[in-house]
Amino acid sequence: MAYKISDECISCGACAAQCPVSAISEGDGKYVIDADTCIECGACADTCPVGAPAQE
Ligand code: SF4
Ligand code: SF4
Repeated sequence: MAYKISDECISCGACAAQCPVSAISEGDGKYVIDADTCIECGACADTCPVGAPAQE
């Protein structure tokens, strides 16, 4: 299942820079992951300073 970014996101942009398939973009108040593009590599979760990305 694709990763999803929680409301804990502080919009730092670090995850978007690490995503190998560019599935992450800046959304309204937080960053968002395109579930159809995400390959579930976990790089965003490893990079995020606040632990916002997670698999549901
Ligand atoms: Fe991108 Fe990997 Fe995070 Fe999916 S799990 S959004 S592919 S960095
Ligand atoms: Fe949000 Fe974490 Fe991504 Fe930064 S790394 S934009 S806090 S989800």
